[in-house]
Amino acid sequence: MSGERVAVIPGDGIGPEIMDATIGILEATGFKPEWVYLDAGLAAIEKGKEAVPKETIEAIRQIGVALKGPTTTPKGGGHSSANVTIRKALDLFANVRPVKTLPGVQGPFAHMDVDIIIVRENTEGLYAGIEYQPHPDVAQSIKVVTRQGSHRLFKYTFDMARKQGRKRVTLVHKANIMKLSDGLLLEEFYKAAEENTDLESNDVLVDNCCMQLVTRPQQFDVLVTENLYGDIISDLCAGLVGGLGLAPGANIGTDCAVFEAVHGSAPDIAGKGVANPTALLLSALLMLRYLGRHEQADRILGSVLRVCKDGKCLTMDLGGKANTKEYTREVISCSTP
Ligand code: NAD
Repeated sequence: MSGERVAVIPGDGIGPEIMDATIGILEATGFKPEWVYLDAGLAAIEKGKEAVPKETIEAIRQIGVALKGPTTTPKGGGHSSANVTIRKALDLFANVRPVKTLPGVQGPFAHMDVDIIIVRENTEGLYAGIEYQPHPDVAQSIKVVTRQGSHRLFKYTFDMARKQGRKRVTLVHKANIMKLSDGLLLEEFYKAAEENTDLESNDVLVDNCCMQLVTRPQQFDVLVTENLYGDIISDLCAGLVGGLGLAPGANIGTDCAVFEAVHGSAPDIAGKGVANPTALLLSALLMLRYLGRHEQADRILGSVLRVCKDGKCLTMDLGGKANTKEYTREVISCSTP
């Protein structure tokens, strides 16, 4: 891993707009690595390449760290998801998605003090990509849960929770119905819990968890779960703290990591210059921390918090009137001495 080179995938839709904004803020505050631009998603397909060209995977593997914009995935048949391909090819097994109430951001849950880290299993479950059609009228998707995959997910989660000063890890599952797949997950979770008795552990069924998240989200600290539930729950949690424009993420593997927002390519607002770059920026701050650049991350975070609290230069998704460039300038002016 090198601190001097960072792979960049601008992505599709709003991806290039929010990537420019994010890199502008990082550079203005003194983080100026060599940005190695790589193709993936529709941008790659339009150049006649695969959705994730082999050279993109190899470059991320070599560089060790990547900042990725959202990529568009066609619905139904056609190309497979660039995200799923990258996560599987690089074995990025843990998708870490912190959600935290930001001062000044309005919304139905603004009065609740939400501070949850979601850890989503990133390579197995129903996203393992094993689908087939044994008959024209029947389609099947196989859900994969492995003992080894569950073990490393829970080990990572408990270690991360401890490092971050967290108190409780909750497994989200549906082992009452999927007795074998989620049952194995539950079994491995409590094995890991026995090795981490300094942290509290409990479990909750995914449907009950969703209801609890919108009634009493403050009770949750770290949520760990399989791939599909994690995908859905993290969008729900993003809604609790002001929407997808504020939800960052990190895809963590053994040797490399890819940082990207929870949200997608937002085709409805692409090219209008109004996208909120905060989710990608906060993902970049997770990257700075991964690289050990905590001072820089703290400074930019302080600036984002000031801009949000002040409330005069917010993007439209947060009820403001600022466009992407105006918001970016404001964050830069608050974070440079
Ligand atoms: P989306 O997350 O792109 O958009 C959902 C809604 O949130 C839209 O109304 C959008 O305008 C809004 N939104 C999202 N990000 C925003 C931002 N930064 N600022 C302001 N508003 C924002 O979800 P979708 O429309 O279901 O998906 C669009 C495409 O993105 C699909 O092809 C999907 O497969 C893909 N996708 C990619 C990723 C990824 O690359 N990691 C993740 C999710 C979805």
